[in-house]
Amino acid sequence: MGRLQDKVAIITGGAGGIGKATAKLFLDQGAMVVIADISKEALEKASLEIDQENLSYCVVDVSKPKENQKLVAYTLEVHNKIDIFFANAGIEGTSKPIVEYPDDIFDNVIDVNLKGVWYGCKYVVPKMTVGGSVMITSSVAGLKGFAGLGAYVATKHAIIGIMRVAALEFTSNKIRVNTIHPGPVNNEMMRRIEKDISPENPGEVLKGFEATIPFGRYVDSNEIAQMALFLASEDSKMITGCMHIVDGGMLTN
Ligand code: NAD
Repeated sequence: MGRLQDKVAIITGGAGGIGKATAKLFLDQGAMVVIADISKEALEKASLEIDQENLSYCVVDVSKPKENQKLVAYTLEVHNKIDIFFANAGIEGTSKPIVEYPDDIFDNVIDVNLKGVWYGCKYVVPKMTVGGSVMITSSVAGLKGFAGLGAYVATKHAIIGIMRVAALEFTSNKIRVNTIHPGPVNNEMMRRIEKDISPENPGEVLKGFEATIPFGRYVDSNEIAQMALFLASEDSKMITGCMHIVDGGMLTN
């Protein structure tokens, strides 16, 4: 028996680094998993790579209310229930000071990172089974400022507020809601941020970030997946409304 035996889990941003690692781990632990992502191509690739019959996918733009309703309808049609919801889709925007930050990119980051989580809580969570678990991916950028990443930092702070309110509002169904706060993760998003900050020398950005992490290296997507597994499982059944940091000590520095 796995730790998530026969549970049904939705993972948004499920074709990306953290989402895919979590899907693999949840499947290994006996769950049925729906990965949801805006990129059909990435979903197809992830499905081929994971290659498990208990995995399916749904193309969804989390920033749109109707798309969240579509995700619920799809999951209920295929699995008849939703036990676990990992609201993990997110984008980094760009790296520019507030005064230079392009308005359209700001709007886009708000749409995906903030409205996406809001609509997930509004449309997906009420359809979950009693005793379900919701995890929302924030960031260390939800707990401290990073110059140049204003839109990202703002949204990752704001979703802690959504988490706290949702944790209170869904107690009648004993649904737990928590945030996960990864430090810099060794995956594609981080590669894009490094290139954006320093197109000429992204390696310098990596060294700079790593120097601020007491454990001396980026986090691995699998290490975030392990936190998601803990929060999704019965092992954390009295934990709700909390922030869970996985950062190799970065925030203590
Ligand atoms: P990633 O870029 O590999 O994955 C993000 C996924 O979200 C992608 O597959 C992308 O297609 C999808 N996505 C983007 N917009 C979407 C939308 N509108 N609707 C549905 N899906 C959409 O990056 P990741 O590291 O796996 O990111 C997962 C989460 O972790 C994000 O919320 C990110 O902010 C957070 N995070 C990442 C890091 C890091 O260093 N990579 C650090 C802290 C927090």
